[in-house]
Amino acid sequence: MRLPTVDELLANVRVVALPMRTRFRGLDVRETMLIASPLGRWGEFASFPEYDDAESASWLSCAIEQAWNQLPSIEERPVFRDVVRTNATLPAVDAADVALVLERFGDFRTVKVKVAEPGQVLADDIGRVRAAREFVGAAGRVRIDANGGWNVDEAEHAIRALEQFDIEYVEQPCTSVDELYEIRTRVHGLGISIAADESVRKAADPVAVARAGAADILVIKVAPLGGVRRALNIIDEAGLPVVVSSALESSIGLGASFDLAMRIEHLDYDCGIATNVLFEQDITPEPANFAIFTATPGIVDEKTAEELRVSPEREQWWRDRAVRCLALL
Ligand SMILES: [Mg+2]
Repeated sequence: MRLPTVDELLANVRVVALPMRTRFRGLDVRETMLIASPLGRWGEFASFPEYDDAESASWLSCAIEQAWNQLPSIEERPVFRDVVRTNATLPAVDAADVALVLERFGDFRTVKVKVAEPGQVLADDIGRVRAAREFVGAAGRVRIDANGGWNVDEAEHAIRALEQFDIEYVEQPCTSVDELYEIRTRVHGLGISIAADESVRKAADPVAVARAGAADILVIKVAPLGGVRRALNIIDEAGLPVVVSSALESSIGLGASFDLAMRIEHLDYDCGIATNVLFEQDITPEPANFAIFTATPGIVDEKTAEELRVSPEREQWWRDRAVRCLALL
């Protein structure tokens, strides 16, 4: 990949804090850096603030690929679709609030429900998943995501309790690849599939979980994996079905997820890229349609960027971080 200089990288950036509608991943606002290249294209550098530079560098790589338009050509990587079906994402809210949150997603058939939230108990998960199943009806699809929050025994117990709601798959029930292998073996008889997320995007070797036979499905997040080109190589090597999901980016970064999803030949599961509905305010003038995500060139709305601009200290923090990460690429 051709890298910009520091001056080129920082010539036209906006650092904003997008307000969340519902607390998600412990966040009330989502800080992110939007980067424009001289081509007039925008990329997003949204590595979570607690991530170190080594991990964040991949996110910057994705932003540069996007803004400097270094996506694979049609000859290298054909495009298989121009519409990507998306799922709703349900944070770990009370069962009573499920309908209110899901209504915002508009028309969808699949919902991903967050479970195993710290401070909550299995009864909370059961109530939330039941409410989600009732919301989507028998024809809907319900998947759950534990973000590695269970040990193997807890996972088995929870999966057996939640299985009655016809679960499409369980995402990252446990943290390690060994645990995923174990739980996958234990629940195999239930016909429940195991998806790996953190074990892909936070691993030194993103394909190791597939090679170990520890997952049926891979969740692919384009920014943590370093961009469209790298993500496609990982998908090829893993040889498993994939679900493209966001890393809670604005509609700018979601464009990169869409660029990836359109180049994946087999995309049997609805993709988790409609997460901008979780924001009170997005950064593009025209946020994407959440039922079907169609490609739109992501342009930052300057008025909104000004309104949501972070403090000078936070802006400097992001600029310094981008420079350090660029040096690692
Ligand atoms: Mg996940």
